[in-house]
Amino acid sequence: MKDILEEISRRSRLKATEGTVASYIPELAKADPEAFGLAVTECDGSQYLSGNWDHPFTLQSISKIVTLALALEERGPERVFSSVGSSPTADPFNSIMRLEMDAPHRPNNPLINSGAIVVVSLLPEEGRERKVDAIMDLCRKLMANDSIDIDDRVYRSEKNTSDRNRSLAYFLRSVGSLNGDVEDILDVYFRQCSIKTCAKDLSIMGATFACDGLNPISGKQIISPSTARTVRAIMTTCGMYDGSGEFAVKVGIPAKSGVGGGILGTVPGRMGIGVVSPPLDEKGNSVAGLAAMKDISEKLRCRVL
Ligand code: GLN
Repeated sequence: MKDILEEISRRSRLKATEGTVASYIPELAKADPEAFGLAVTECDGSQYLSGNWDHPFTLQSISKIVTLALALEERGPERVFSSVGSSPTADPFNSIMRLEMDAPHRPNNPLINSGAIVVVSLLPEEGRERKVDAIMDLCRKLMANDSIDIDDRVYRSEKNTSDRNRSLAYFLRSVGSLNGDVEDILDVYFRQCSIKTCAKDLSIMGATFACDGLNPISGKQIISPSTARTVRAIMTTCGMYDGSGEFAVKVGIPAKSGVGGGILGTVPGRMGIGVVSPPLDEKGNSVAGLAAMKDISEKLRCRVL
């Protein structure tokens, strides 16, 4: 296994030159384009680490599965899916267009920005600090890592350049699809996106979803099996933004990407995969990360779709 992963790392990292590091959040532009880390955590707790597996980066959109899991646990699927849809979209992750076109102006799914902002508003905790505490607590448990924290520079950078997400949130409120204090909700969203992580943490979180909510490292049941299954289903259809269909065909593993360059994969009953390489394709997915996921799916025969 170790040799297969080393070979996959060696080949995939060469692909990074075909991508571009995200720069619309200025702090993300400082990411090292050559960093490449890969980690696999199996459901029996075995772990395989390769390259810069401890290289720090921010979760960005991968955080959306943490908040979705929390909302599903605390509010239940009926409530969550009455406020956001569960359908894929062919539009970019921060698109505003369809929100206006399609009544009842509900975000297509919880993994595009508009949907994730609505999911934050559904958390029952009062006020921004309590919501952030609940998200951090769940994130640490999903990753079996108590030292997970927020990258303050990325958080401030995102907050200061957030015109698009602000537009989405205020538009949603104007059509009655977002309730609560918009600035509080946005602040929680920016902080969840700025959670600092590494490929190893991602692989553990992926394994927790793969093992129906049981974290194989801590041995604790973190979320219910039905929440784990629902999040995996949404990852399958919507996890790679408008690249989700192509990813399902080529790779066939439920996954979630973020513009920090991370991709989390979850192979039910078998393993979690974490990969990071900051240069992205035009859809916002890590180019070398995509190559690694495709190779893993083939070489480890772990496609599930
Ligand atoms: N924080 C980013 C944003 O809101 C997350 C987007 C992403 O990773 N696709 O734009």
